[in-house]
Parts: sequence; structure tokens; C-alpha cells
Amino acid sequence: MILYNSLTHSRDEFKPREEGKVSIYTCGPTVYHYAHIGNLRTYMMEDILDRYLRYSGYEVKRVMNITDVGHLTSDGDTGDDKMLKGAKREKKTVMEIAKFYTDAFFADCKKLNIRIPDVIEPATSCIDDFIRVIEALIEKGYAYEAGGNIYFDTSKLESYYAFHDFNEEDLEVGVREGVEADGNKRNRADFVLWFTKSKFDDQELKWQSPWGIGYPGWHIECSCIAMKHLGEYCDIHCGGIDNAFPHHTNEIAQSEAYLGHEWCRHWMHVLHLNTNSGKMSKSSGEFLTVSLLESKGYSPLAYRFFCMQSHYRKSLVFSYENLDNATTAYNKLVAKIAPLLRGDDGAVDAEVFAQLKKRFTDALDNDLNTSLAVTALYDVLKAKTNAATKLAAIRDFEQVLMLGLIDAAAAINAAEDAEAAAKAAAKAAAAAADPEYARIEALVEARTAAKKARDFAEADRIRDLLAAEGITLIDSAKGTEWKRG
Ligand SMILES: [Zn+2]
Repeated sequence: MILYNSLTHSRDEFKPREEGKVSIYTCGPTVYHYAHIGNLRTYMMEDILDRYLRYSGYEVKRVMNITDVGHLTSDGDTGDDKMLKGAKREKKTVMEIAKFYTDAFFADCKKLNIRIPDVIEPATSCIDDFIRVIEALIEKGYAYEAGGNIYFDTSKLESYYAFHDFNEEDLEVGVREGVEADGNKRNRADFVLWFTKSKFDDQELKWQSPWGIGYPGWHIECSCIAMKHLGEYCDIHCGGIDNAFPHHTNEIAQSEAYLGHEWCRHWMHVLHLNTNSGKMSKSSGEFLTVSLLESKGYSPLAYRFFCMQSHYRKSLVFSYENLDNATTAYNKLVAKIAPLLRGDDGAVDAEVFAQLKKRFTDALDNDLNTSLAVTALYDVLKAKTNAATKLAAIRDFEQVLMLGLIDAAAAINAAEDAEAAAKAAAKAAAAAADPEYARIEALVEARTAAKKARDFAEADRIRDLLAAEGITLIDSAKGTEWKRG
């Protein structure tokens, strides 16, 4: 499988360290607010990676953190604590906010068919691990204490800027945006591992540490949680592109300084979801959540389909018009699958199935090209083969795509069946209410039989007989109906 690697800037052949097993670390949400649909696009594309590796036969272990402490609004060491900000906004405690938005995040994941990672670990449950690693970093000379805080010393590394795309000028942007530089830092790129001199007097969550009462920086949590559950190596680390710097750069710096060897070889970054006015955010423009889409009548799985139509390494523009188009295409796809379910009785043609499957795996083996994988789905519908083979292919692809196509198609059929049943019930009720019903039905049937036998005299006789009783016959292509009056 070819998977683009942000670290090498190339489309690398993915190979796990241990044959047949893959360890994945995913940066989880900071639970101070709802996730917007741009955040969720990243989790959905990571979900495709996770599911496709499993589908391909790998044993996958995926770990995700929940950031419930230490994440400042700048992603660096400046700005407000996001959790504290959320708690103040809603007049709740930080832990109440964390619980509420963690639950909300997983509820959104469920609606979008995002598989829950094997291990979920909130930062606040690993404080001892953070302290242990920070102590080791100080001992190895990679970290120092200044002004009460512990900083990572980036000058001790041979190279700090792991992803090459970023440099000191990016750091200056943060400074220019009105936040003063931290005078305790020896080097501009240094970052906080542990805060004791908090600028937030009302910081709720604090722990005892060898350096005084305080709380961890954001970056250390991912390194520690990954190492705690995946050991000294991680095969794939993923996240949104905005995590590449400084967050992932800092993760690599501290993990490799601590371990003394390479930590994670393969980095996958998902690009932004934009609106017509720029990058999606929680603070500007309409706050786009899954619930908001639902309230406007959109299915979360149609949004998943919309995301699958584009490649994870391309930024994607969200607009309601684009989502409408995706919804229309999704509904058409489902409508084409529904009749297949009614004819699902033949044997699967193994040769055709293998050809169809190859198109699908070729697409995803090519750097998770989901848009071509969706095209492979259309190829199935166009294929000259029986319903059983088509359905077998769709069910197979759906293990990865998880668009809910079969369920949605079955729902269409169920609605049709319910309508037919309602008609039959109405007829039965009419029969029960009318003592003449069975006799009239028998006469109508006899007339139909006479017409069929070209005995028009008999057919007319029956019609006249019924007309004399005040019964009108209505002939149509579907047969003859009757009514009184
Ligand atoms: Zn992280």
C-alpha cells in the first residue's frame, strides 16, 4: 500500500515494523466545545485508514488521547487554556465540560460511522506518566527549568523542524498576533512541558510535581500516551495538517529525545475543510456541527459520502450546495441498490467479484484514494453480472466505506412494502365493513375472466348487473377497481 508520508514528503510504500501488525496513534479532540465538521473530516479519513488496514488483513491497534488539560488557544504556549475558556463560557467545571464534550464527540463519531479507537486515554489520567518522561528529559539534558516552568530545549536537537514546511518565521506569526514572547525560553522554538507559574490564577486542574504544583503542556500528552500503549515505536501517527506544526514537531522532538531512537516513521496529515470564506473554525462564521446538518435535514452519512468524494490530501470546500449535490448522488446510489436486494438469490460470480474488488483495493492502495473507491462502487452497479455478485461487492466495500448503503436501500424497500401492506389492510377493512364485498369481488373477477375469454356479452351482462346495484367499474392497466355510487 502506498501512503503519503509527511515526514519524507513522498508517497512511500507502507510497511509496519512488525509483519501483519500496525500501531496507529491519533491526536484526539480537545473537549472544550463541539467538534466542527472539518475536525470530523480528519477523523473520518483516519477511520478509512484504520478500516482499510483491517480489511487488508492487518491486526491494528489504534490509540487516541482526549485533551482535557493544557491545550492553549495558540497550539503553542500562548493564549488561553481552551478547557478553562469552555468552562467559563458555560459556567461549569472543567471536568463537567470535558465529560459533556467527550460524549458529544463520540456521539458524532457514531453518526458518521467512525470506528472508536481501541484505546481512548484522557490526558488527566496520565499525569504520572508525563512527570516521569519530563524528569527523564531533564536528566538527559533536553529540558530545563526557567521561571517556574519546564521547557524543552530545541537547540539540543540536530534537527527540530521535522516536516520541513515550517520554520522560525511561522513562530513569529504567533508573536505578531498580539501575544508576547515568553522571556523564559532559551530558544524561540522551545516549548513548555510543565507549567507551574500559570498565568491562569483560576486554573482548576493542578497536580503535585517535583517542580511544584502545576499542569502539563499539551504536546507531552500525545508522546506519553502513545508510548504508554504502543511501546517505543509507532507505525503511523495521524492528525489534521494544522497539528503538523508545532504539535507533531514537538511530539517528535520530545519522544525521540526521550527514547534515543526514531519513534514514528510514517505521518499522515489530513488537509483542511474550508468554507468559501476560508478555513473552517469554531469562532468565525457559522459553527458547522453534525447536529446542525441534521437539523437542516442532511444525513450524517451523506456528509461522509461528500468527504469520500475527495482526497484527504486536498483541502475540501464545504458549501450547502456541494452537500446538496452529494446528497442527491447518495440517494440515487441507494435507489439503485434497493432493487438488487429484492433479487439477491443467485450465486456470486467469483471471477467478476474479484475484478470488482481489485478496482476498489487498487484505489485505496493508491494513497487512500477514496474518490476512486467510490467510482469502483458505481462500476459495480454498471457491471454485467447478477444481483448477488453486485451485492457481495458492495457489502465488501462497505466494510471500509461505511456509508450505510445497504441499510438505506433496505429502508426504501421496507417503506415500499409497508405501503403495499397498508393498501392490503385498507382492502381487508373495506371487505369487513361491506357484507356484499366478497360477492361483488367475485363478479368483478368473473367479468375479467369473461373479457379475457372474449365473451363480451357475459362481461357486459355482469357490468349491467352491478350498475343496477349502483356499482361503478373503473378499468385500468392495473386491472378493474369498483366503487359504490
Ligand atoms: Zn497530539
